[in-house]
Amino acid sequence: MCAETPELSIVLAIYNEEEALHELYERITETMKSLELSYEVVAVDDGSRDQSQTLLSELRAQDPRWRVVRLSRNFGQSAAIYAGLTLSKGRYAMMMDADLQMFPEDIPLLYEKLREGYDMVSGWRTNRKDNLFRHVMSRMLNKYIAYITGCPLHDHGCSLKGFRRAMIDRMKEFTHRCRYLPVDAAMLGGRIAEVPVRHRPRSHGKSKYGLFKLFQTAFTLITTITIMPLQAISALGILFSFAGFAMSGRVLYYRLMHGNILMLETVVAIFFFMAGVQLFATGLMCEYVGRIYIETQRKPLYIIEEEVE
Ligand code: UDP
Ligand code: MG
Repeated sequence: MCAETPELSIVLAIYNEEEALHELYERITETMKSLELSYEVVAVDDGSRDQSQTLLSELRAQDPRWRVVRLSRNFGQSAAIYAGLTLSKGRYAMMMDADLQMFPEDIPLLYEKLREGYDMVSGWRTNRKDNLFRHVMSRMLNKYIAYITGCPLHDHGCSLKGFRRAMIDRMKEFTHRCRYLPVDAAMLGGRIAEVPVRHRPRSHGKSKYGLFKLFQTAFTLITTITIMPLQAISALGILFSFAGFAMSGRVLYYRLMHGNILMLETVVAIFFFMAGVQLFATGLMCEYVGRIYIETQRKPLYIIEEEVE
């Protein structure tokens, strides 16, 4: 193999992680020493405003296996990881958070699986150390991503994931701009394995995902991978119309059987029916808007795994 092609690339997204970098360096170096293989670390500084940049420059100076890339501003974790994976050269690449919540010592577990022939290996934080809210939210999102992509992983959001080079090339073929890495990874298909990994609470700093950012991320994720919220408008329209119909039935029944006119009920029934028709019409327009949205994403219709000779 070409001397410039390392066996493994480790891609790190770094945003204000000055307290973690030294320990991270030591632990990655120690772990990789035990694996005895050629590797590179692609450290992507996602516009940090603390000392991360200086520290990374120092690490680069002392160890040429560390490649340091600084993005021009904060683009977000997914974009940073994409940048790193795109720049990585290894036969296999692994992505990992830089805050040491994941254990660099688990890298060999994933690497072993990749060597067994899997195209993608995802960590599974079986003992996740995050608050209850994040647990619940991530459980729901995992189920939803599994439903949409047909890839039934327990922990799509786990940032410790390994890929065979061919999978990264596939990822590069996606041209849509709004990216959410766990979903793109799941959409790649291929042979996918899951490996239980350790997780610990943050020992320094704060998660970059506060409550607002979590909601924002979940909302962006859902509106990126599906036009379901738009389609829900038509469904709501149909529901309103049915309610209007049912109420008119009641009004008619009272008129025919008892001869009295229910004024308020009549007005409410008309209101429901009209609201239903309007919502349905809006939903119909949204359906077309949604389809334009899907078309503009230009996601591949299929991905060929291999051609059998
Ligand atoms: N990160 C990043 N850009 C961002 C936010 C986060 O590169 O805009 C990095 C961060 O430095 C860390 C990883 O992404 O290495 C995960 O972030 P964090 O630990 O805050 O997320 P959590 O573990 O709470 O999901
Ligand atoms: Mg973290």
